[in-house]
Amino acid sequence: MRIEFEVYSDSLADRDIVARYWALTADGKFAENVTDLLPYADIKNSQRLVKYIQEISSAWDTEQACLKCGKFASIRSRNEFRLRPITAAVVCGACRKNKQLEEKRAAEEDATKLRERLVIIAAENQKATIDYSTIDDDIALILIALEKATSPRLLSGTFRRDECRLLAPQNCDSFIQRLSAAKVILDCPAKSAPDAYYLKEGSVLCRESKVAYFLLPDRCKGKNEDAFEIIASREFRDHGALRRLWLDYAVSDCMAYLRTQSNLHALETTNEAEAEICSLLRTALHTYSVAQLWFILWKVVRDASSLSTRIYYNSARAAATIPGKIKMALEKVKKGQIAIKSWSRPDYQPAGTLGDVLCERFGIDEKTAGREVMSLFPLKETNDGGLIEGVSVEKLEEMVCFLMHRAIAYNYELDVILHFANRIRNRDTVEQALDSIFTTYPQLASKQSHW
Ligand SMILES: [Zn+2]
Repeated sequence: MRIEFEVYSDSLADRDIVARYWALTADGKFAENVTDLLPYADIKNSQRLVKYIQEISSAWDTEQACLKCGKFASIRSRNEFRLRPITAAVVCGACRKNKQLEEKRAAEEDATKLRERLVIIAAENQKATIDYSTIDDDIALILIALEKATSPRLLSGTFRRDECRLLAPQNCDSFIQRLSAAKVILDCPAKSAPDAYYLKEGSVLCRESKVAYFLLPDRCKGKNEDAFEIIASREFRDHGALRRLWLDYAVSDCMAYLRTQSNLHALETTNEAEAEICSLLRTALHTYSVAQLWFILWKVVRDASSLSTRIYYNSARAAATIPGKIKMALEKVKKGQIAIKSWSRPDYQPAGTLGDVLCERFGIDEKTAGREVMSLFPLKETNDGGLIEGVSVEKLEEMVCFLMHRAIAYNYELDVILHFANRIRNRDTVEQALDSIFTTYPQLASKQSHW
């Protein structure tokens, strides 16, 4: 029987009328019309009869059990029964309400926990200090540039990532990330957006774009212009760090140009293609200037764009050819088949304060050839552990740059580092360890055949 009911009256007539009201035929229709049940006692119309039945009884649809508590769905009238979709499995109103209450309670508990944790984080961060004289060279240069980009907030207040856009032509976030990883800047929860933090499996996580950061004060001199002089007037000696910073900056300068050119021709490159392009540009920046690479990018995007109008091509397929075209163009330049030109900095793409600082301090800008930059920051030929043998530092740097970009693109960062560490522990040279990675993860090596 599809309808179950209970009558809260001892009168046999009442029990009978409720049974007749809900009685179904074998094919699932109601056995009698409501009008056929009238008159009942002094009740002469159907509406009043239904109301009376509701007063003295309850009824349930036995084919509609709540998914959660298993209770049958209550039905108050024939209409309600007819309107119920038979197949839809649902959670009953009471269970839904309970669930909402539970969720609300859990959210409130989480919010309280989060507030408590943030108070602790804020107090710890406020107490932290660093020694400005021990900050790494690349971090110091980013700070000097950031001070100019956010003046005066770096020394007197807080700043968010989107307020650092003047720092570099693109990828400003990655430079801020570097400061954060070096722990020279920390979060200020009180100044961050209300939804900047959330709890996940007991840990406090943040939405980085909504976090307010502040520069830690110097252990002795605090945080003021005088203390900042320790950073600003230092001598820069770590050539490896300076090289890396220049390459990061120069790649961002090239990628900003590529993005504008691609937008102009409605070409959209994928993340993987961009990682590959970054890696190619980084290698090329050891030789060429940013302005020369702008020329290459301009040429390549123009070629790809003309391809996109051809039959069998579309803009996505054309955009996918950009990394290969860059590689080919650079090879042709190397063989003297293309005369490389140098483009001027476009008005819409300022160098950013980091570019200004690199120019002021080292006289390098978009026109400086990569070869010159590299000779300005020479690396030692071998390290003291004798791990680098039989391979030039330039070649090694090229391999590592390539590997790390591919590893990030394929999400193999951890595997690659652990593999590398393991090989070095087993007394491999750096080159042997790198070769072993390329053999173990051939997908990382697919474009590496020219080594
Ligand atoms: Zn239920």
